[in-house]
Amino acid sequence: MSKKTAAISIILLLLMILPLVSQEKNIDTALMQNISYLLLADAVQSWNASASFDVLSQTGSIIRGKEIITFKLDYEIFILNGSRVLVGKPIIFKDGRLYIPVETAGLIRAWFLDRENEQKTKGRVAIIVIDAGHGGKDPGAIGDYGNFKLAEKDVTLIIAKKLYELLRNNFPDKKIILTRSDDSYKTLEERVQIANDHSLALNEAIIYISIHANASFNAHAKGFEVWYLDPDYQRTVITDTTAVTYDKDVLPVINSMLQEEYIVESVYLARQISASLAAVIGAQSPSRGIRPAQWFVVRNTKMPAVLVEVGFVTNPEESKLLADSAYLLKLTQGLYTGIISFIDYFENQQRKSF
Ligand SMILES: [Zn+2]
Repeated sequence: MSKKTAAISIILLLLMILPLVSQEKNIDTALMQNISYLLLADAVQSWNASASFDVLSQTGSIIRGKEIITFKLDYEIFILNGSRVLVGKPIIFKDGRLYIPVETAGLIRAWFLDRENEQKTKGRVAIIVIDAGHGGKDPGAIGDYGNFKLAEKDVTLIIAKKLYELLRNNFPDKKIILTRSDDSYKTLEERVQIANDHSLALNEAIIYISIHANASFNAHAKGFEVWYLDPDYQRTVITDTTAVTYDKDVLPVINSMLQEEYIVESVYLARQISASLAAVIGAQSPSRGIRPAQWFVVRNTKMPAVLVEVGFVTNPEESKLLADSAYLLKLTQGLYTGIISFIDYFENQQRKSF
C-alpha cells in the first residue's frame, strides 16, 4: 500500500467512524421502538440485487437489473429510479455494517416484484398483418381513362408486398403476415380469420393494416386518409344488415370487441401513419386526415387496426402517381415509418416504468 492510499484509507476510516458517534443515539431510539433489522447485505442478496455505499456522502444505492434505489443513512426517503419516493424506516450504520429495518426491506421487495411484473406485461407487437384490399374477382375501385386503367386491387397488392418486405427484413423477430400475396380473392371473414387465428401471449399484440385506394364521382377528389375504429362503436355488435359501408364494397362490420386501450392505440397508429405519409407524399397528395369508422374486421381484443386509403384512382393525376413504382415505394416507406413509430411507442414508451 502506498503512502498516498494509506492516507486516504485513514481518512475514509475516520469518516466512517465519525458519523457513528451521532448515530449511536438513533440506534438506541430504534431499539427502543423495537424495530427489527436485517443486515443490508443479506437483504440485498435475497433480492438478487447489489448495493453500494459512499461513506463521504452517506448515500448508497441498491441496484437490481434496470431498477435503482438510492438512500441516505438515517433518512426515511428512498428514491426509486431517480423519480419516485418511497417512505420507510431508515437504513442505519452500526459496527461498520449497514442495517435495514425488516419493514423497509419488505417495502423494497414489494417494489422490485411490481417492477418485475410490469416488465412481464410490457407490450410487444408480435404480429403485423398487412391486408391488401380486394383481389381476384373483386377489383375494388377502378380508374378508367381509356388507354389507361388502374384497379385498386393491383395498387394495394404492390404496396402490401413492398411493406411486407421492409418489415420482414427489419423485424426478423416479428411475424409479418400478408392476407394475400397474389391476385386472389379473399372474403372479409377469411382476412379476419388470418389475424384472429394467432394466439398471443399476455403482453403481445397484433397490428392490422388494411390498404385500400379510394374512388369518387368527383374526379378532383384526391389525397390519402387513415381510418380507425370509432370508439363509440367499440362494444357494439353489428350485423351485415346494419353495417355502414363507406368504401362501397368494403368491410361490413363484423364485431368489435376491442378494449378501450386498443382503440386508443388504433388512433395512435392512425396518427403515426398519417403523419409519416404526409412527410413523404404530402406535397403530391394532400392528407385528408384521420377518421373514425364503424368498419371493423378484427375480433381479437389485442389488435390495434387501421385502414389506409392511399389515394384516389378516380383522379387522373393521382392515378398516374399510384401507377408509378417510385411513388409507391415512397408511399410504402411512409407507411413503414408510421408503423415503426407505433412499435416504438407500444414497446418502449407507453408503459415506461417510473
Ligand atoms: Zn377498397
